[in-house]
Amino acid sequence: MGDRQKQNKLTVTLRFYEELNDFLNPGRRNSEFERQLPETTSVKDLIEGCQVPHTEVDMILVNGESSGFDRLVRDGDRVSVYPVFESLDISSATRLQERPLRDPRFLADVNLGKLARYLRMAGFDTSYRNDARDEELAEQMIRENRTLLTRDRRLLMRRVVEKGYLVRSDRPVDQLEEVMRRFDLAGKVAPFTRCMHCNGLLCPVPKEEVTQRLRPLTRKYYDSFSQCRQCERVYWKGSHRDRIDPRVQVLLGMS
Ligand SMILES: [Zn+2]
Repeated sequence: MGDRQKQNKLTVTLRFYEELNDFLNPGRRNSEFERQLPETTSVKDLIEGCQVPHTEVDMILVNGESSGFDRLVRDGDRVSVYPVFESLDISSATRLQERPLRDPRFLADVNLGKLARYLRMAGFDTSYRNDARDEELAEQMIRENRTLLTRDRRLLMRRVVEKGYLVRSDRPVDQLEEVMRRFDLAGKVAPFTRCMHCNGLLCPVPKEEVTQRLRPLTRKYYDSFSQCRQCERVYWKGSHRDRIDPRVQVLLGMS
């Protein structure tokens, strides 16, 4: 037996579908390719070995059969890997990601501060700290059962990350649209129920209680106010509207 054969005991054929191709080297996109493996490995490690984070994968077929991440690959296996689909009937197959999220709770990575504010504006529980270390993010994600939003693919490949999403777009408005589409959030939007600054919940507050803190024109033209339970910031209808990107207003059903 030659050295080459000893080193590569298994040959597996892979094919990635749809946007999972974004993660692959150009030569591997939208077509089958082979990988030689020195020893058997889990389907999850095989997929991440191709630089595709497991959190992006919703369905795996091995030789046409639905498979989980833990299955060990065998010589000659054909592995097809699918992303989260919006509308494809794969009800008989095992879906690997919970979707839609029943209780969407997010944790935004350090460079997604503006997206975090938009998600809070839409009423979604979104934790964000620009000083958190990776370990702290991971710990909070598990403790609070949050879905990690990040632009760092390596972070998603960490074993502790169960739910996560790699944000592709550069612009915050596009990011908001992308995340809303991916997690099917359109029907769950509740603008101005959550504080954009601290993620605290807003509660209605009588005008008398906050009147000292309002500018004269606000005091004159507005009657209903909310206050953040956590940081006590005061909000009113129109308080930020003029400054909000029109596309965000459309996404949040405000216009
Ligand atoms: Zn607040």
